[in-house]
Amino acid sequence: MLSCPTSLSLSHSYCSMAYSQCLFWTCYHHLNQHVYPTINRSFKAKKTSIICANYISRKRCILKAKRSNNTEANNEKKERRVRILIAGGGVGGLVLALAAKQSGFEVMVFEKDLSAVRGEGRHRGPIQLLSSALGILVGIDKGVADQIMEAGCVTGNRVNGLADGLSGDWLAKYDLMAPASKAKLPVTIVISRMTLQEILLNAVGSHIVFNKSKVVGFSQDPHKVVVTLDDGRKFEGDILVGADGIWSEVRKKLFGSQEASYSGYTCYSGLAEHVPSYINTIGYRVFLGQNQYFVASDVGNGKMQWYAFHKEALRSIDTPEDKKERLMELFGCWCNDVTTLIAATREDMIFRRDIYDRDMIYSWGKGRVTLLGDAAHPMQPNLGQGGCLAIEDCRQLILELQSMKKRGFDAITLYEISSALKRYEQARMLRTKIVHVVTRVASKSLSGYKPFIYLWTLRLPHIPFKVFGFFLRIVMPYFMTWLLTGRWHSLQSVDYESARLSE
Ligand SMILES: Cc1cc2nc3c(=O)[nH]c(=O)nc-3n(C[C@H](O)[C@H](O)[C@H](O)COP(=O)(O)OP(=O)(O)OC[C@H]3O[C@@H](n4cnc5c(N)ncnc54)[C@H](O)[C@@H]3O)c2cc1C
Repeated sequence: MLSCPTSLSLSHSYCSMAYSQCLFWTCYHHLNQHVYPTINRSFKAKKTSIICANYISRKRCILKAKRSNNTEANNEKKERRVRILIAGGGVGGLVLALAAKQSGFEVMVFEKDLSAVRGEGRHRGPIQLLSSALGILVGIDKGVADQIMEAGCVTGNRVNGLADGLSGDWLAKYDLMAPASKAKLPVTIVISRMTLQEILLNAVGSHIVFNKSKVVGFSQDPHKVVVTLDDGRKFEGDILVGADGIWSEVRKKLFGSQEASYSGYTCYSGLAEHVPSYINTIGYRVFLGQNQYFVASDVGNGKMQWYAFHKEALRSIDTPEDKKERLMELFGCWCNDVTTLIAATREDMIFRRDIYDRDMIYSWGKGRVTLLGDAAHPMQPNLGQGGCLAIEDCRQLILELQSMKKRGFDAITLYEISSALKRYEQARMLRTKIVHVVTRVASKSLSGYKPFIYLWTLRLPHIPFKVFGFFLRIVMPYFMTWLLTGRWHSLQSVDYESARLSE
């Protein structure tokens, strides 16, 4: 008699509330039906009306209970957010986490070692962020983009381009300012990787980024994906993004282990405390030579970052403390602007690493799992593009996931998720493929770099080099504009009023 009506099949929390309402109704009903009539049988007419009121009250109770049941279920639906798990907290992983957070997704980042980015001059040095990447950062979080631009050193407002290593003469100059200005995008900067990481980490929040958390595996089924860390912890989500770089564990688990390709180049990087006389007119210069090239860029605060790439066998090693000497052997006869920078760099600020890339793959994921940045399309750094492309990936991925999210969580099936991830990779494939091809062609063509041929005492122009020079002067500026402004037309909705083009 006093039990909760089972036909309503209520949830636990709802049941206790509905139960008390029903208890009230049942007592009321009991009193009406059995107690009142025995007290005063003469109020028969009244009894009829009480029974009617009783009936209406009961109906109201059931309706109220049903309504409350629906509201709770709706709240549950609203609260259930799509959960994105990200393996890797590099540039790509952190920017994706920020974009996901700002778009209302639930997000977790697993990073094996945040201290791997140890600061300027080490391993990878500062990173150049082109207008395209900065424009996307503005769209994701203008406050964060402002901090990044504030901390960076603007190089896009000066002359940038390619020069001959021996003579220092310009081969091609690129205007990074006009295309950015036309597309109303912020102008290209260079920023310390450590500063960039700090800004992004602060914005994403330490509760979202799990440090010392190496992803070692994952499993997926039609309802979820589960990530496993090296200490055995497991985390469940709806989507997994492998943003874990060129040696990606997620990629390995998806497509099997594949050898990375050695580019043929080793790279010395150094940070010189030196302010050259051309600092106000030149942002960066790439000096070209046969089988080697040298990149010099202003990075602000009275420092110059340089990278010396040299073609040689894999894993050749220097004896300790002789990197500078070796570099002088390789680049000693190059122009002053190169040798001065090497000479001005402390030995302990010179690092060396071999450069790898991988062949393009044309599928980046399966089911609920996809790849982003270097994990998807690792490339040689001669165009300084990998990080920018990773940021572009983030935007495209979030756009696709947002279009899915608009339909509400209930509508999100495995099919919807995998379709959104496929749309993302299709949208990104052509651009990343083009840049990947150009980086490989660029490094290969350096082996034929020869401005002159010598015939007895005659110095004659080298015809293939002339063609190469023509390509650099005519085609490269278009390519650079395309790199810089990229998909700017689809960024028109973003407010770029604050784009600081004049700095
Ligand atoms: C010498 C050099 C100069 C460059 N200059 C530029 C430049 O100027 N501009 C530019 O745009 N690009 C540049 N690049 C390329 C750029 O550095 C990369 O493309 C970019 O860092 C890719 O970002 P990412 O987030 O995909 O990968 P990464 O930055 O490599 O980040 C991957 C992260 O995943 C973590 N990780 C790896 N495995 C796991 C795991 N199993 N579990 C958890 N975490 C894991 C790593 O610790 C790392 O933090 C340069 C590269 C080199 C080598």
